[in-house]
Amino acid sequence: MGEKPSGKLIVLSVDGLRPEIYRAAEGRFPNLAELEKSGASAEAAETIYPSTTYPAHATIVTGVAPRAHGIYSHLASLDPTEKARPWCWFAAALRAPALWDVARASRRRTAALSWPVSVGAAIDHNIPEIWNPAVPDPHSDFETSARHSTPGLFGEVAKQLTPLLGKADPDQLRGEAALYLWNYYRPGLLLVHFVWYDAKAHSFGPASAEALTALESADRAIGRIRDAISADPATTLVVLSDHGFVPVEKEAAPLVAFAQNGLFARGADGSLSLRRLGTISAGGSLAVYWLEQPSAADRRRLEAAVDELQAAGAVQEIVDREKLEALQADPDAELMIEAAPGFTFSERMGGPLVSDSVQDRGAHGYLPSRTGMEAMFTIVGRDIAAGKNLGRISLPQIAPTLAGIMGLSADILASEAKPLDLR
Ligand SMILES: [Zn+2]
Repeated sequence: MGEKPSGKLIVLSVDGLRPEIYRAAEGRFPNLAELEKSGASAEAAETIYPSTTYPAHATIVTGVAPRAHGIYSHLASLDPTEKARPWCWFAAALRAPALWDVARASRRRTAALSWPVSVGAAIDHNIPEIWNPAVPDPHSDFETSARHSTPGLFGEVAKQLTPLLGKADPDQLRGEAALYLWNYYRPGLLLVHFVWYDAKAHSFGPASAEALTALESADRAIGRIRDAISADPATTLVVLSDHGFVPVEKEAAPLVAFAQNGLFARGADGSLSLRRLGTISAGGSLAVYWLEQPSAADRRRLEAAVDELQAAGAVQEIVDREKLEALQADPDAELMIEAAPGFTFSERMGGPLVSDSVQDRGAHGYLPSRTGMEAMFTIVGRDIAAGKNLGRISLPQIAPTLAGIMGLSADILASEAKPLDLR
């Protein structure tokens, strides 16, 4: 028996990064390319349903699918008429142990930056991702995150970043904050969430000039972090993502069909309010929830609305309760509507059923089997084969693999996924 590794681990998540995006751009993302050469990489990592940030990041740290960890969606509200909907920010909603619980059980120090679903988590040095949903730009709301951070930590890190404020993009700030946490607190586990590529890919498209420029910034931050640990062979570096992206040209509004079929109530002033149905749009899919026990007539109304969407060419397929169970996805949804290629779903309640002018040029949230939804995964460190191709992996395999990398037992995790063979 060889000696158990007891190394430190850094996990960098580049939100929304599909492997093809950086592999196709020869030379433009030198640090991502170099990590692939010196470590083991997945051809693709199959994500979960819906392929969105919060459920996927919860799967990355717990090793289980959404049905087991309890984060079924990015939103914590089923009400599309609500003006400022809260997200699933709070770790208390996780029903499965996370990697930080594994690390803490072995008295390893942990740190996290902007990691989704980490507010209130048992993390020693934590600046979580959370914002006031009523503000127009979440990226400029630092106060809410500061209030939910480890006491004193946000101000301490912000002081280090003062020269960059107003000049650096959100990922540069995260990169420098990560270096500070790493150098000052020496955590055994550091989790960092980079967000700027995803933001630009939504607005301009996944291969747009704006998105690729944002990715260059994440690539540079990754390079700086790699350089900082290069003298320490006991540290393993993981770069991964949560889901992929596809370009979209059309927007469909399922709620317009629901309203026309009487599934929402209409107030005296003409505004819609919830009665029977709740919805959550993930962009590439839309989940529908019965809020009241449906009558046979209600079910017919829903069918009629879905038929209208299908007739408009906006639907790839209806994911029913049986398929949701097979996908280990949302147990509360009556169904999920999967958007047709080129379509994204909004929660617009008025106007035409389908619009050719999309606000966003990129989307995710589709079935994990859809081309383009693949996430990326690469890992570099001691005893990891250089240049190894891991093939197609799945997100639940990551947490038990990383527990092993830290020299910890994966028993605390609820994961039944097979750890990756990195040698
Ligand atoms: Zn994401």
